[in-house]
Parts: sequence; structure tokens; C-alpha cells
Amino acid sequence: MLQRKFDQIVKGYFPNAIDAKDTSIHYLGKMQLEHHIDVSKALMATSLCSDDINVPSTMFFNVLFGPFIMGGLGGLPFAGQTGMTAFAHHIPDDGSAFIFYGPHIGATLEGDLGKMYRPRQDHKGNSCGALMLALSRFQGGDYKPVLKEEDYQQMKLEESLLPYQERILASDNPEKAITEAAYEIIDKKVHEYLKDCKDEFHVDKVTLLGGIIINTDYGLDDYFDARNFEVIDVKSL
Ligand SMILES: [Zn+2]
Repeated sequence: MLQRKFDQIVKGYFPNAIDAKDTSIHYLGKMQLEHHIDVSKALMATSLCSDDINVPSTMFFNVLFGPFIMGGLGGLPFAGQTGMTAFAHHIPDDGSAFIFYGPHIGATLEGDLGKMYRPRQDHKGNSCGALMLALSRFQGGDYKPVLKEEDYQQMKLEESLLPYQERILASDNPEKAITEAAYEIIDKKVHEYLKDCKDEFHVDKVTLLGGIIINTDYGLDDYFDARNFEVIDVKSL
């Protein structure tokens, strides 16, 4: 009953979202059947937000080795070129790489987006906290993030979002819009670092699965709205 209600709410915002468990079964199956990838020899990297609420979604992929954690606040691949290089060097011989990436956003049964009830908490809170904080600062008007060592990731995330600020604030649903913008930033950076580090890979195939994680509550699985699935031959980049 609750599951069906949640399904309706999530699909109202993200019509193509499927639950995280089905996501892993669907895409691991595609890798094996359509791309002839031996998933038992694939190393996974993630570029997801540090938030503890995202950990269960990655566990559905636990037949893979890893994960190598590239992401930080908001899901940006803060580990950079050095992280991508290290990941490339860790792939099993004759294996392949799999990168799961994207931002996350909470949903509630009342229909809020950008909020969620966390385990054992009575009051709803922000999800993604980092993106919703950036949004509240943008909504405050005339805001410019200042890079500082003590809050490097948040400031860098906000700086990356600045070019999208107008689009986000003009949107009917700014919580969704800032999450979509974060997806675009993460997707671009993952592709960039992959290209920059292509010579570090001793295997050919790198599978990318990018999208938006939708966090639910009441012990239900999260949902995933896939935006990009591709198997890249790194040598051809
Ligand atoms: Zn987050």
C-alpha cells in the first residue's frame, strides 16, 4: 500500500524511475547479455553524495568489486583525475570498469521533493542536504560562494552550480531543477576525467550508469531515474 503510494509520488516527478533493486538487475543483465561483460570481474566506482542514505542503493551492485568512492558532497567526483587513475589501476586483469554516478533527492508521502524522513527521525529533513543548502543560498539573492579549505566541497559544488542559477530559480520546482543541474555537472566531469585518464586503463570496456537517486522512507528501496547507460571503449576516446 505505502509502496504503491510512493511509486505514484516518485513517478509523478520522475516518470521513468524504477526501484534501485530493479535498476541493478536490469543494468547488470544488459551488461552481460548485450555487451558480453563478465560482471564478476568488474570493478565499480561511485560518484554519489557522501550522504549515508545513499549507501543501500550501492549495495544492490555488490556482486561487483568495490566501490571505489570518487564522489563527495552533491555527488561531484571530487577524487578528480588522480581518483580516476587509481580506479583504472585497480581493475581486475581481463575485467572491466563500471561507474555509477549522480545526485540524489528525497521524496515524502506528503508529496514533498527535496525532503525525506530519515531512519528513526520524526521530522523531515533536506535531501540532498548539500544541494538544498546551495538552493537556499541562491534564493537569498546576490550570493557568491568563496572557496575555502574548511568547506571546500560545498563551496566548489555551489561554484559549479552558479551557471545554472537563473534556470534553477526560474523553475516551477527549484528542488528538482538544482538536482537536474547537479546531474549535468557530474555527468560532464565523469566523462572528462575518463577521457583525461584513458591511457591509465589496461582494459577496454567502461560501463557508465548515471542518473538521479530518489530517496524514500518507511524502509522502502530508493528509486533510480537512469539518464545515461553506455558502454565505452576507452581506447577509442
Ligand atoms: Zn547529498
